[in-house]
Amino acid sequence: MHLVGAGPGGIDTLTLRALRLLTQAEVVVHDRLIDEEVLALIPAGAERIDVGKPKGASASQALINELLVSLSQRFDCVVRLKGGDPFVFGRGGEELIALRAAGVDFEVVPGVSSAFAAPALAGIPVTHRGLAGAVLVVTGHAGLDPQLDVAALTKGGVTLVVLMGIERRREIAERLIEGGVSGNTPLAVIERAYTAAERVVLASLDELAALEVNAPAVIVVGAVAALPLGELRQLADSRRD
Ligand code: SAH
Repeated sequence: MHLVGAGPGGIDTLTLRALRLLTQAEVVVHDRLIDEEVLALIPAGAERIDVGKPKGASASQALINELLVSLSQRFDCVVRLKGGDPFVFGRGGEELIALRAAGVDFEVVPGVSSAFAAPALAGIPVTHRGLAGAVLVVTGHAGLDPQLDVAALTKGGVTLVVLMGIERRREIAERLIEGGVSGNTPLAVIERAYTAAERVVLASLDELAALEVNAPAVIVVGAVAALPLGELRQLADSRRD
């Protein structure tokens, strides 16, 4: 079994290893966010199984684990395809634990994670000498984790990257501001990076709650979000032409 990261969007951000495996696959088990351009690489004769969880529903991870084990016993080339990198909020580890328990061999193919690639698309270096010496990548799925040390973010020098944070953006902004992060802190929202619908919105933390933005998107909070690297953004714009 090959646990493969598909990158954040279309085929440009696939690794060559992912490309090779996809074109050789006998079965591909994939999630909801995988771009059609990537899925189109799967051979016509291969089986394609979408285990994407419809929003709100909780498709059982245990069933997906069982499916992967049984497919691996029947086929030589099974690809489990996940968006971005399989180990960055992808539950890839949980699936590998189940496979190992069943004695199935596997390979992990890292992918380009939206946590870094989406800011890059907007011309935002997540670390930058003098502005940010650390990056914190968190989920905003249920708001920010209560354990998150917001006080550590008030001193500057840390870039916060929030995945799955669009729905709870109001709550996330409140928690940061109440925790002492300045409402003037620069912020960027990068929607659907590396797809035809990519969009970058630059704002400040106190504007986040009211921003009209849609998932899937990455939220970047910190001084680096204000860097004027506009040339890269023009590049992003030209990709759509
Ligand atoms: N393993 C993935 C993340 C899975 S969580 C990775 O490494 O990228 C899903 C979240 O990733 C989304 O809610 C969104 O925050 C982010 N995401 C995934 N693809 C994206 C894209 N093309 N543009 C912006 N954000 C994306």
